[in-house]
Amino acid sequence: MPTSARTMIEVPLLDLKAQYAGLRDELEPVVKEVIESQWFIGGPNVTQLEEDIAEYCTTSRAVGCASGSDAIQLALQAADVNPGDIVVCPTYTFFSTAGSISRIGAIPLLVDVDPATYNMDPKSLDVALSKAPQGRVKAIMPVHLFGQCCDMDSIMGLAADQGISVIEDAAQALGSEDVHGRRAGSMSVAGCFSFFPSKNLGGFGDGGVMTFQDPEMASRAARLRNHGMEPKYYHHEVGCNSRLDALQAAVLRVKMRHLDSWTEGRRENARFYDDCICEAGGLSSDVSLGETSKLPIRYPLPASGASRHIYNQYIIRVPAGHRDMIRARLSEARIGTEVYYPLALHQQECYRDLDLFELNLSAAERASRETIAIPIYPDLTQAQKEHVMDTLLSIVSSL
Ligand SMILES: *Cc1c(COP(=O)(O)O)cnc(C)c1O
Repeated sequence: MPTSARTMIEVPLLDLKAQYAGLRDELEPVVKEVIESQWFIGGPNVTQLEEDIAEYCTTSRAVGCASGSDAIQLALQAADVNPGDIVVCPTYTFFSTAGSISRIGAIPLLVDVDPATYNMDPKSLDVALSKAPQGRVKAIMPVHLFGQCCDMDSIMGLAADQGISVIEDAAQALGSEDVHGRRAGSMSVAGCFSFFPSKNLGGFGDGGVMTFQDPEMASRAARLRNHGMEPKYYHHEVGCNSRLDALQAAVLRVKMRHLDSWTEGRRENARFYDDCICEAGGLSSDVSLGETSKLPIRYPLPASGASRHIYNQYIIRVPAGHRDMIRARLSEARIGTEVYYPLALHQQECYRDLDLFELNLSAAERASRETIAIPIYPDLTQAQKEHVMDTLLSIVSSL
C-alpha cells in the first residue's frame, strides 16, 4: 500500500463503535425489552447472566454487582477479611486492586511483579510473607494482569503453607486460563471481574461479578451487595447497595455470545504482532531491554503450557528514555496508545505512608517506565495492524 493511503488509516487504542455497529440488531431489542418490562434491578436477565458466568468460569456460583471494584470489596468481606487485616497484592496493577482493599479498612501489602509477565512475583510474595507480622496476613490477591493468568501453583502453595485465603482480581481476565487450563476466577476462593466498557466483556456502563466455589460464601456476597439483607428488611450484617442493573445484564448476555470469537481475534492479532516484532529483531519480555544489542523492543512473553492469554491489553516494552517520543510519533500516525500504568501503587501519593516492609519493587518501577499498550481489539483490520507494526518498527529501528 502506498504511504499516502497508509497515513489515512486511523487506529484508536479501542474502537467500541466498531463493535456496536456489528451488534446493533441484537442489542436494541433486548434493551427495549428491559425498558418495556420496567424491571431494572435484578430479575431474569441478571440471574441468567450469573448462571452463564458461573458456567463459563467453571465455578459453582456467580454474583453480580455494580463494578469490578465493588466485586473486590465484597469478595474480601465475604471471605471474612476485616479492618486491620493485611492483604497482599501486586504494586503494578490498576489502582482499584489496592484501593478496594483499603476501602474495607484492610491494609494492602504491595509486592513486586515478574518482569516477563507483569504478574505477582511469587518470590516477592514469599519475602513479603516472611516479613509481615505473624498472623496479620488474611488474604493474597493476585491480579491476572492484561489477560494473562498468574503463576497460581506457586501462589496457592505459599498461601496454603500459611493458611491464607487467595482471591483473584480477574477484572482483565474473563476466560483466561493458566498453564493447566484452569479458568481465571476458579482457582481460589473467589474471582472478581469487571464489566467496565473497555474490558473484554464490557457493558453500557459500570458492572461487575464475583465467582465462588463455596455456595455459602456466594450467598454471603449476594447478601452483602444488598445491604446484608435477607429476607427483605432483615439485616444480618452491614452491606451496601451494589447490584447489577437488568439493562447491563441484558446487554452483557448478548455480548457474551461473542466473547470467545473476540478472544480468538485478539489472540490472532497478538500472534501477528509477536511475529512482526520477532522478525524485525525484537525479543520477548523475558529478556530485559538492556541485555542484548537486538532491536530495543520486547513483545509479551508467549503463554506456556495450556495457558490462554486473552490480551485485554497487548503490552510492549521500549527503552524508558524513548517512550514519550515513540508514543508521540505513533500518535502522529493516528495510532492510539496508553501507559498501564505510569506509576506503581507504592509511588502513588495516597500510599506514600504505606509500610512497604523494605521490599524490592524495582521490576514494577521499571515496567511503569518501559511499557506501552498498543491497539489489539478484535475488529482491527489487516491494514490497521500492518500500519501499527510498520510505524512502530520503523520508529524503534531508528533508535
Ligand atoms: C478494571 C479493573 C478493576 C476495577 O473494575 P471497575 O469495574 O472499573 O471498578 C480492578 N482491577 C483491575 C486489575 C482492573 O483492570
